[in-house]
Amino acid sequence: PQRTWKHDSGGRVRVAVRLRPRNAEEMVADADFADCVELQPELKRLTLRKNNWVSETYEFDEVLTDFSSQKRVYEVVAKPVLESVLEGYNGTVMAYGQTGTGKTFTLGRLGEEDIADRGIMVRAMEDILAGICPEQDSVTVSYLQLYMETVQDLLDPSKDNIPIVEDPKTGDVSLPGATVVEIRDQAGFVDLLQTGESNRFAANTKLNTESSRSHAILMVNIKKHVKVPVEDLDIPNENGLSMHKSKGSYPPTVRKSKLIIVDLAGSERVDKSGSEGLALEEAKSINLSLTALGKCINALADGKSHVPIRDSKLTRLLRDSFGVQAMKIENMMKRREEFDYKSMCHKLGMELERC
Ligand code: ADP
Ligand code: MG
Repeated sequence: PQRTWKHDSGGRVRVAVRLRPRNAEEMVADADFADCVELQPELKRLTLRKNNWVSETYEFDEVLTDFSSQKRVYEVVAKPVLESVLEGYNGTVMAYGQTGTGKTFTLGRLGEEDIADRGIMVRAMEDILAGICPEQDSVTVSYLQLYMETVQDLLDPSKDNIPIVEDPKTGDVSLPGATVVEIRDQAGFVDLLQTGESNRFAANTKLNTESSRSHAILMVNIKKHVKVPVEDLDIPNENGLSMHKSKGSYPPTVRKSKLIIVDLAGSERVDKSGSEGLALEEAKSINLSLTALGKCINALADGKSHVPIRDSKLTRLLRDSFGVQAMKIENMMKRREEFDYKSMCHKLGMELERC
């Protein structure tokens, strides 16, 4: 029997799968299992053969083979997000998979030996720097690690428990006290990534854990000066409904947007019955955040109005990057709750009286 899973999120969430090449060990060990994964990139399908006759086929937004270059992966996966971030929307790129599947390779490669190796983080910053005006716009970066529901600053190891604060009105997430570095050029950004990586290694050695047990989160904030025709401004009024302003001038506006790149903790299931102590606690915490993330992504993909962000710190951190649509809906719901119930009743009462 063949089962097919189709991924369809109406464009709010896009999912790509990348198969990494087998390493030397796997070549030897898996020589007989050459056909257990079959990719059909043109059909955007991946088939897993469990044995000779049972197979499961999955459909993705993109299927990237073991021959796909880093450049191609960037263009297919991240470039569309970058384009909308530069237009003023918030966006997130995440890598999910078991330890050893190539998440850090895909996102974090600096490409020092061979520039063709550069991963999504470095390429994204190149596009951001090329897309802004250095005299007036600004790009700032924070680099964090989320370990056991604790946010740690990868740019300053002394800051090992950073609070997450959400502005109740705008929904904007901020991290008071986290190091924020202004990026002026690509070299500065690569230095920052290196510092973050070595701090991550040191912090994890101290905690006696591995980087695969934590999420690494790069937050990029962009402030871009744009001239927007007033008619294009979509301003929510106090009821959360959007009002279109009439035709007018082009006042200079600062557009804020945020790109978040997340190298998620390894998704492998830790055998809870066999683990104890730290390993068990880590497994529970990773499970908590990945489950919460899954719920949010499903809610977004299904177009649901309620996205359950409060279940974990990972989803709280990503709150304002779960897409404008979701934010708008959430804000509208919020505003509706806050709406002065009495005055609404009065209005309704008056309407009724008139009838
Ligand atoms: P993860 O971060 O998911 O644990 P890594 O990115 O560290 O995995 O990758 C595991 C190993 O596989 C590394 O040695 C990495 O260099 C190699 N690797 C991953 N993806 C690729 C790829 N597309 N091409 C070549 N080597 C890869
Ligand atoms: Mg990794």
